[in-house]
Amino acid sequence: MKSKNIVILGGGVGGIVAANELRRKLPLSYGITIVEKEKEHFFAASFMWVMNGDRTMDEVRKPFRNLIRKGIDVVHGTVREIDPHNNKVVTNDGELSYDYLIVALGAELVIGSIPGLAESAYTFYSLEGADRLNRALREFNGGIIAIVVSSLPYKCPGALPEGAMLIADYFKKHKTENHVDIQLFTPESQPMPVAGPLLGDSLRMLLEKKGISYHPKHKLTSVDYNRKTLVFEENEPVKYDMLIAIPPHQAPQLLRKAGLANDAGWVPVDRTTLKTKFENIYAIGDVTSINIPGRWDPNIPLLLPKAGVFAHFHAEVVAHQIINAINGEASKRGFTGGGYCMIESGGGRAGFASGEFYAEPSPRLRLGNVSRIWHWGKILFEKWWLSSLGIRKRLLGLIIKIGGTVLRIPVGF
Ligand SMILES: Cc1cc2nc3c(=O)[nH]c(=O)nc-3n(C[C@H](O)[C@H](O)[C@H](O)COP(=O)(O)OP(=O)(O)OC[C@H]3O[C@@H](n4cnc5c(N)ncnc54)[C@H](O)[C@@H]3O)c2cc1C
Repeated sequence: MKSKNIVILGGGVGGIVAANELRRKLPLSYGITIVEKEKEHFFAASFMWVMNGDRTMDEVRKPFRNLIRKGIDVVHGTVREIDPHNNKVVTNDGELSYDYLIVALGAELVIGSIPGLAESAYTFYSLEGADRLNRALREFNGGIIAIVVSSLPYKCPGALPEGAMLIADYFKKHKTENHVDIQLFTPESQPMPVAGPLLGDSLRMLLEKKGISYHPKHKLTSVDYNRKTLVFEENEPVKYDMLIAIPPHQAPQLLRKAGLANDAGWVPVDRTTLKTKFENIYAIGDVTSINIPGRWDPNIPLLLPKAGVFAHFHAEVVAHQIINAINGEASKRGFTGGGYCMIESGGGRAGFASGEFYAEPSPRLRLGNVSRIWHWGKILFEKWWLSSLGIRKRLLGLIIKIGGTVLRIPVGF
């Protein structure tokens, strides 16, 4: 009989970190169970390297078990229902009882929700999608490539400029018969709007330098794929030769039935403790909705972006919160809103955007110079994340050494 059971729903970035952190710190008399529907883990930050041919699909996926510490029970099944009043979870494999629950189910892609999109668009937002897009890029003979953010919110806002710059870089290396014209369309008012106008301007300039046109405030309503035309809510239709979409995202539907979701379907949590409205249920990562201070546009409240770095830091915080609760201690560690990302710009270089998302009166972020260091930083992190746990410890030592002394960054996703 376990003294307490902790159940983690979803074994992506947040779920893996939470499970490992809890197992590292709690005696084996505490049960830790993780429910994940996939047998393999895919490292999403590398999908763009599959897209441009720098990686194969096999190089960016790993058996899920290899990333999980011994002493964690893995249920490979689908979560069907959460019953917060009876501390129970229903999966396709049976029921699980919990004392503490961590919801880390991420965001789902629903490409079919915009008419014509599923029939016409490529995407680098899934592993298979990135591989299919790589084959299409190899056959592309020039023309307009439209990259479209089909709705908000979407995970990793830095992935939009990053994907566009890597495609521009691909065609710099692989010449086509006709000119390639890359155009970005998004309902947002600037790149990474949460970061404010300064960082947005830096990114726009970076895109311009690569010859990429940026079209803000374009809300896609449908795609007329017979005429290869994008239809927007308030703008003129636009013709394309190849369409690449960041598909619409939604929160897993079961969260509404559980009473955990807000009107938009995401899970509101305390921004420091990541606790939901239920005392013993936490939510982390993409599934959450976290208001942050300030607004660049008076009509649009700011939300913490969906990104692996936050899923990672949330998971560490929640593991500590649960351990403190078990020990009857006041919690000493909370999430303070710090985050960063490395944005590949092509040619073996990347920019480093970092900042404080909880800063008053509004988030404080900056984009450092594009350099080879950050590209290598991203590769090092990829190797660390995808390595098995034993090798990981050694690689972690190396990253901490380099990160701590040279780059001065915390280690996260
Ligand atoms: C192309 C791309 C590039 C990116 N680059 C970066 C980057 O450079 N930096 C960064 O910080 N972030 C990046 N991200 C975002 C990052 O991958 C996500 O924000 C992160 O994975 C979120 O972690 P999570 O644990 O909340 O969800 P996920 O990692 O998505 O995990 C959710 C898990 O839940 C499982 N699941 C879902 N429903 C069920 C169910 N009903 N039953 C059982 N299991 C279920 C899923 O299979 C999945 O494994 C990128 C994303 C993409 C798509």
